[in-house]
Amino acid sequence: MKLRLDNVQKSFGATRVLDGISLDVAKGEMVCLIGASGSGKSTLLRCINLLEPLDDGAIWLDGEDIAEPALDPQPIRQRIGIVFQSFNLFPHMTAVENVMLAPRRVRKETREALRPEVTALFDRFGLADRMGHYPDQLSGGQQQRVAIIRALAMRPEIMLFDEITSALDPELVGEVLQVLKALKEDGMTMILATHEMAFARDVADRVCVLDHGRIIEEGPPAQVFTAPREARTRAFLSRVL
Ligand code: ADP
Ligand code: MG
Repeated sequence: MKLRLDNVQKSFGATRVLDGISLDVAKGEMVCLIGASGSGKSTLLRCINLLEPLDDGAIWLDGEDIAEPALDPQPIRQRIGIVFQSFNLFPHMTAVENVMLAPRRVRKETREALRPEVTALFDRFGLADRMGHYPDQLSGGQQQRVAIIRALAMRPEIMLFDEITSALDPELVGEVLQVLKALKEDGMTMILATHEMAFARDVADRVCVLDHGRIIEEGPPAQVFTAPREARTRAFLSRVL
């Protein structure tokens, strides 16, 4: 798996939201996108997941430009999981039913066939005893972990996370970040938009600083956080750290 963004451009009306983003992500890498609200982090993740069409540029996934408008986005989206700030679980379905829904519909697999793999995922992320619970019977941190499991059940090659701890009570943030750490240990390729600077500093392989739709600085967290090259990075970090 190799992902390469090449000069990705995206405007909404007259507003240029992504202004020539180029980025390489290697297999097993965790890349954190940081930057002020409105800098384009969510739009970038949505473009990679083909939820937004590009105005220009390319997104190469293993040598294929997946942003090519003629392509059917559905099989590509299965290879790229995404988790949002709001968990978006179906309230009338149990946790396990939420997780099995897409694999049953898309891969046409039966519940019985899916059960071992899905059970292992609930187990792995500390939710073995919550599979039959409805979302409103779960804490926010548990619901977000179910949302991650739901994305993983599609066996993605790469996972995108958009501020997935921002809606959580502070005491529940850690359990969700722990899941991301575990996924990294499993070798999952991940791109995160995050405000969790301590997490990005400790766990990311690379940090990209977005500012007005451009990557103004990128590098290992030790460099970006402790010796930023750009004045705008320093200004951003001084506001959030
Ligand atoms: P971030 O995630 O870094 O806060 P976003 O990608 O959400 O940034 O937003 C970047 C800019 O694009 C903002 O100015 C936002 O208002 C604008 N924007 C995002 N989505 C839309 C949309 N669907 N229509 C119009 N403007 C949008
Ligand atoms: Mg956002």
